[in-house]
Amino acid sequence: MPVSGLPPYDDGNIFARILRGEIPSRKVHEDEHALAFHDIAPQAPVHVLVIPKGSYVSVADFSAKASPEEVAGFWRAVGLVARQLGLEDQGFRVLTNMGSDAGQEVPHFHVHIFGGKPLGPMLA
Ligand code: C5P
Repeated sequence: MPVSGLPPYDDGNIFARILRGEIPSRKVHEDEHALAFHDIAPQAPVHVLVIPKGSYVSVADFSAKASPEEVAGFWRAVGLVARQLGLEDQGFRVLTNMGSDAGQEVPHFHVHIFGGKPLGPMLA
């Protein structure tokens, strides 16, 4: 059983295809460890996804298997993207869904960055 409870990593998932350039995305940032792009169906004025370049199905998989450099590089990219988008002054939300109970649709680890308006309390 994989660590996340999700199926093993599938190279054909949509974010893997975006990483390979097979599907276009509105890129915000790219470096050695991460790619950030605008969500295709934004749920806030700013809604960006940040994904690691490595093949991890979920945050649990990423936490268990990624190297310290990948983990640090990924989270640095999240902060950098938020700064780049001008979200730091007003605040923003970082969220990841893991597995079916959380409604994870794409089985490549990603975090959502939401901002650009008062977001209100978190809803479980
Ligand atoms: O966390 P979850 O897996 O549910 O979120 C997947 C996100 O990926 C959705 O917000 C969806 O709009 C986004 N998406 C995208 N571009 C695609 C396919 C999905 O931005 N081509």
